[in-house]
This record gives sequence, C-alpha cells and structure tokens, in this order.
Amino acid sequence: MFDTVKDQLAEELAAVRDAGMEKHEAILETRQGARITLQDGSELINLCANNYLGLAGDPAMADAAHAALDQWGFGLASVRFICGTQEIHRRLEERIATFLGTEDAILFGSCFDANTGLFEVLLTADDAVISDELNHASIIDGIRLVKAQRLRYRNSDMADLETKLQEASGARRRLIATDGVFSMDGYIANLPAICDLAERYDAMVMVDDSHAVGILGPGGRGTPESTGAGGRVDILTGTLGKAIGGASGGYVASRREVVELLRQRSRPYLFSNTVAPPIVGAALAALDLLEASGERRERLAANTAWFRERLGQIGLEVLPGEHPIVPVMLGDENLAVRFSEELRSEGVLAVGFTYPVVPRGRARIRTQISAAHSDADLEQAVAAFAAVHARLGGGASGA
Ligand SMILES: *Cc1c(COP(=O)(O)O)cnc(C)c1O
Repeated sequence: MFDTVKDQLAEELAAVRDAGMEKHEAILETRQGARITLQDGSELINLCANNYLGLAGDPAMADAAHAALDQWGFGLASVRFICGTQEIHRRLEERIATFLGTEDAILFGSCFDANTGLFEVLLTADDAVISDELNHASIIDGIRLVKAQRLRYRNSDMADLETKLQEASGARRRLIATDGVFSMDGYIANLPAICDLAERYDAMVMVDDSHAVGILGPGGRGTPESTGAGGRVDILTGTLGKAIGGASGGYVASRREVVELLRQRSRPYLFSNTVAPPIVGAALAALDLLEASGERRERLAANTAWFRERLGQIGLEVLPGEHPIVPVMLGDENLAVRFSEELRSEGVLAVGFTYPVVPRGRARIRTQISAAHSDADLEQAVAAFAAVHARLGGGASGA
C-alpha cells in the first residue's frame, strides 16, 4: 500500500519547498544556444549552459549525428562487451586518448558513470583516497563505494593535502582526486603542486576535467595543459556533455593498465548500455573542429575577459580568474534569488546559487559564457545586470 508512504513523501516535498530548495525546470521551446525561448514565450539570453564552445545547438553537430545515425543506426541495444562496440566507439576512445595525451581511454554513458565506476576498480580496503572537499557529487559518490581509507582535504589547500597524504602513509596505494575546475567558483586546481606532492608521497593523481576539456589550454586539452602539469596526471575523467558537443557521454583517459582493468571490472561500463552512435559520431566531429581551429576557444576567451571586466566596471563583485564560469557574488541568499528573478524579467537567464550549494553568506549568480554569445548578447546581458544592480544593490559597491 502506497498510502502511508504518500503522506511521508508529501511531507518531504513540503520540507524541500519550505527550505527554499525546490528546483524548477525551465522548459525550452528552442535548441540550446546563446538565446533561447521558454514555453511561456519569453526570449532570454542564456548565461547558464555548459555550452562553452556553442556546439550544443550547432548545425555541424546535428549533421555529424545524422551521418552517424544513417551509417551506424540509432542504438545497439547492448552493453559494450556483448555486442555493443562498433568501429566508431574504439575510434573515439583512441581519439580522446590522443587528444589528451594518454595511452588509452574508455567511454561511459556519462561522466557521472565514469566517476562512480572508477574508484572501486582501483582501490581496496588496503588503499587510501584523498579527495578535495569541493569535488563534484559523482566523485563523492564514487568514493562512497570503496572500502579504502577516505580522507578529505580543504579546497586547494596544499598543506592540508600533505597532512592527509602523511595520514595515508600506511596504505598500499594512494590516489588524490580533484576537479580540474571547481564549478561554483570557476577556480582551477593547482595541479603542479598536487603532482609534486603526489610524487613525494607516492600517490596517483585523478583529475575530473569536465569543465576544462575543449576550452582551457592553448590546444583545449584542459587543466593539465593550462597549468603546465601535462603528462603528470595519471587518470583523467571528463564529459561529452559540456564543451565537447553538449549531448551526453563521458570517459576515463589513463594508462593502458587502468583502462584495461576498467573494461574488465567497472560496473557502470559492464552493466549499462553503450553510448549511442549519433553521439559518438558527433563527438568525433567536435574533436575534429577543436583540432582544426582555435577560433571558438579564442572567441570564448575574449567573451569571458570582456564580460568579467564589464561586470567589474558596473560595480559588481566577480570572483577573479579566467574561466568562463563567472560567479557574481551577492552574499545574501534572498538577494541572490531576487536578483536572478529580476534578471529574467530583463531578458537574461542566470541562476542564483545559495546555501547549501555554496557556503552560507556566499550566495551568487553563476554565469557561464559561451563562444556562441555575440557582442550584442553580452552587451545586453551587462545592461540587464546594471539595471537589476541599480534596483537591488549588492556586490562590490556595497549598496
Ligand atoms: C558536469 C560534471 C560531471 C557530470 O557529467 P555528465 O557527463 O553530465 O554525467 C561530472 N563531473 C564534473 C566535475 C562535472 O562538472
């Protein structure tokens, strides 16, 4: 009987609402892009997609997906090891490995799957995993599945990481896990220092570069390239759902032995369907585009620098950095919520993030810039920020 549970669930839902934590889904009537139309007819400049290179709604991706659909079909109705591997799946894995400079790579249904399928293959009760406190939920969940000693260090705090590595000195293996980019702040992990410590304490390094691959570094190869730690990171995970096309899919790129063992043992790989051919074909096309030209990357960097500078000029406080995640700090939780609502009435979609997603008193509007944004899009977005700022205050001017 569902009746008792129904009441309990209704109470839990009410609690979510009362805590101001209810999430509402905006229903788009259009493709993903710099400007979108919602079901209520409103046309908005989109400042909250992970569509960094503008590929999500790009006809080039749709064309590549169509071509793969025609040649390879819609789906394979199988996991990889039974009858779910086509030539394009191996081609994409090899291509990702070459692009990132690793020995091999393995595809997953998502980066969430990649992270939940990684740790339990590599770590047993004899081992230790040392994780940045701000790591993505999928890393946290992946680590929950292991019996290894689990240690957490303060965000990007290298002294604390060193202490935790010392605590883990009795373990058979040590693995440091970090996001390449911390998604609420747009801050980049200090990979050279992490790799130095890893060498000193005989640890492996795992970096989830979902918010960096395709956009950071001169070749778009992500944080190892942009921080100068290329070749020193043992395991890279990432998504095809952000800069690399924006549909779905994820991967682990690493040493040959790691990838081979994942193919044998990783549960989300073994027991979940193969990535659909249209996505694989489009991901290959996305990598072609990225390697053929730096144009989208350069456009993104120029857009980001311009937007960061302009927001500062109108008196808003922006967390420093170069990443297209541009957090506009408001502090007060209610102000952040109202600011986001008012931006929407000014034609801009940008979400407010409040406690517990970010620390109390550190509420913000997180904006994300895209190569698809035109000058006019960004100028209009800044004008909206200025108008709302004038009405509500907040930010560096202290109004
Ligand atoms: C977006 C993201 C993921 C999830 O990627 P999916 O492919 O959508 O599952 C995992 N890790 C990080 C750091 C991310 O930003």
